[in-house]
Amino acid sequence: MLKKIILLGPPGSGKGTQAKRLAESFGYLHLSTGDMLRDEVKKGSQLGQKAKAIMEKGELVPDTLIVAMIKSRLAVDNGGVILDGFPRTVAQAEALDAMLTEAGETIDRALLVDVSDGEVTKRLLGRAEIEGRADDTPNVIANRLNVYKQQTEPIVDYYSKLSKLTRINGEQVIEQVFADLKAVVRG
Ligand code: ADP
Repeated sequence: MLKKIILLGPPGSGKGTQAKRLAESFGYLHLSTGDMLRDEVKKGSQLGQKAKAIMEKGELVPDTLIVAMIKSRLAVDNGGVILDGFPRTVAQAEALDAMLTEAGETIDRALLVDVSDGEVTKRLLGRAEIEGRADDTPNVIANRLNVYKQQTEPIVDYYSKLSKLTRINGEQVIEQVFADLKAVVRG
C-alpha cells in the first residue's frame, strides 16, 4: 500500500472529490490547502486576510505562508496522507521533500488527474453557476488555468523525473477515475 500520495491536476479536474474519497477509503489523512485557506478566510485569521484577495484573483498564496500552514498539519509519521492542492509550485515540492526527508519519509507517488483545457473550462463554468465560489467567474477561471500551466505544471515534470508520476485519465466517469486511483494506491 502506498502511503504518501500527491494528487495533481488542473482546477476542475475533480481531484478534490477524488482525494476525499481516497482518504476515506484507505483511512488516510486528507490535506487540502484550498480547504484550509477557505477556512482561514472564513475565520478572518491573519493568514485568511492575506489569502482572500489573492484567491479571489486566482493567484497563488506565497510559498512561505503555504509551507508554514501545511507544516503544522502534516504531522509526519508512518500514516497515510493524500495531499490535495499541495505542492503547487516547484519550491513547494522541494520544501515538501525536505520536510519528509527530515522525518525519514518520502513521497510514494504523484497521481495526475489528467483533463484537457476545454473540458476543465466547461466544468468550472458549470460549477460556477451551482456553487458560486468566489473564484469561479470566467476571468478568474481563465487566470487559474494560466497560473496552473505556468507555476504548477512544472511539478509534473519534477515527479516524472523522480519516476514517481502516474497519469490517470480524468475524463472518464467519476467511478472509473476513482477505481484507477485506488488501483495505484493499493500498489
Ligand atoms: P482549485 O484546484 O479548484 O483551483 P483549490 O481549492 O485547490 O482549487 O485552491 C483554491 C485557491 O487557493 C487557489 O487558486 C490558490 O489561490 C489557493 N491555494 C490553494 N493551495 C495553494 C498552494 N499550495 N499554494 C498557493 N496557493 C494555493
